[in-house]
Amino acid sequence: MDIMLKQLIVPVSLVVNIALLRVSMAWRSHGQTNDELVDNLKAHNIIQHDEVEKAMKLVDRGLYAPHNQYMDAPQSIGYGATISAPHMHAYALELLHEQLKSGGKVLDVGSGSGYLSACFAMMVGEKGKVIGIEHVPNLVTQSIKNIEKHAPELIASGRVKISVGDGRKGYEPEAPYNAIHVGAAAEQGVPDELIKQLAPGGRMVIPVGNKLGMQALEQIDKLLDGQIVRQSLMDVMYVPLTDKDSQYTKWRRKIFKVKDL
Ligand code: SAH
Repeated sequence: MDIMLKQLIVPVSLVVNIALLRVSMAWRSHGQTNDELVDNLKAHNIIQHDEVEKAMKLVDRGLYAPHNQYMDAPQSIGYGATISAPHMHAYALELLHEQLKSGGKVLDVGSGSGYLSACFAMMVGEKGKVIGIEHVPNLVTQSIKNIEKHAPELIASGRVKISVGDGRKGYEPEAPYNAIHVGAAAEQGVPDELIKQLAPGGRMVIPVGNKLGMQALEQIDKLLDGQIVRQSLMDVMYVPLTDKDSQYTKWRRKIFKVKDL
């Protein structure tokens, strides 16, 4: 490893207590409309900042989720991928909100439906830029269409650029990033490349762990002097950050109910 991950002792108990309290209110914010869903996330204190509320109201989840659009649960979008639950989207935006200021640069790894990339773009504004990396080409095409349904200027202007690629390598040409969000669980630990591509003062939010039910959402800060501070925030369940073939194979086995593909 060419980057030393220094694990500093930080007062995590407070963070953990707050996280647990908030987690207990997760999964309960269903609505009939996007506004109602966002209002419920706010009522349950998952959304705490106006900027996050505004972004989530501007990006209607109904345009991104094929089923149960306003249910507070992940939904399948095909190819072994899901659009994450609204409360996880809200946590990610909250955790990154300091980095999602006007003009910020964001990398969204495993951008899937494109929902969070659009929210990030709303928060970083016209001077900001969001790069989405997704390894399933059909999801890249679909996510661009999803964003174009309500904010075609984001794509046309290049403020949001979504590309096919292996997100474990990040996206070097646009690095460094103020915020990096990873929407799939890193089974082999946090990829060094992503840490390298984080700007000083930047923050990454990434689920880490190799089994469903054994993953933790981590917050990784690169301090201004380059020091790395990691905190484990809460237990989570994400699809794996993996290679495309193994994701497809698992998905096809499940869909077509065959053992060997
Ligand atoms: N934030 C997205 C989450 C999608 S699920 C949303 O809410 O819509 C996680 C995504 O990560 C899937 O689309 C999956 O295809 C993608 N993925 C998994 N491993 C990847 C990798 N190595 N590189 C790029 N994308 C990956």
